[in-house]
Amino acid sequence: MKIGNFYSPKFNRKKRSKNLIKVIIIHYTGMQSERESIINLCNPESKVSSHLLINQDGKVYRLVQDNRIAWHAGKSCWGKYKNLNRNSIGIELVNKGHQFGYTNFRKKQLLSLIKICKKLIKKYKIKKKNMVGHSDIAPLRKIDPGEKFPWKQLAKKNIGIWHDCKPDLLRKFRKIRIFIKHDKVKFIKNLNKIGYCFSTKKKYFLVNITKAFQRHSRQELINGYIDKECLIIAQNLLKKL
Ligand SMILES: [Zn+2]
Repeated sequence: MKIGNFYSPKFNRKKRSKNLIKVIIIHYTGMQSERESIINLCNPESKVSSHLLINQDGKVYRLVQDNRIAWHAGKSCWGKYKNLNRNSIGIELVNKGHQFGYTNFRKKQLLSLIKICKKLIKKYKIKKKNMVGHSDIAPLRKIDPGEKFPWKQLAKKNIGIWHDCKPDLLRKFRKIRIFIKHDKVKFIKNLNKIGYCFSTKKKYFLVNITKAFQRHSRQELINGYIDKECLIIAQNLLKKL
């Protein structure tokens, strides 16, 4: 696979050791164009960068070397990891995003992503549960890569996790809201085991985390409400960890 190079100056000068790399974080660029995204990611004035960028034709660009900490995660948490720049590889997919016209990710783009992820997973021994989206690790601030990102398709290639509940059966439990405290607590505990971080300080946190969970694992309906379908999926995913 050919990888193009663009230099992004936004990384820590100090090299990091290979065994610090534990998580792969998927983003979308959320900008009008590919050109604009690359300019922004490589602009010394901007505060963001990522290791790799994949355009809609599947061309891969290297912006920051893996052994440097790129600035893509921001304030974030996943499992035992906090502020994930240090422990992660960031991959940007060109897509206008929710603000400018969110589109399906292209086939070629996904094929390249799959190839890249397979290499990275092997090289850094990344656990399945540590394949995440930006919204999973920063649910209060971020919604990328969004509900069109095909986690199910990737899981079929052994990248990340997906449930094995039957979709037509599952759908019967959609919108059946959960009010029993015991079930809510169970849902929170499940999400926590999957990797989502909870804080008691923020009032609206649960809604945001539920939305992040839905964007990743129940993509047909993102409403922030805990329903039975969400509970069943979360329960099932635990078996895959
Ligand atoms: Zn992002």
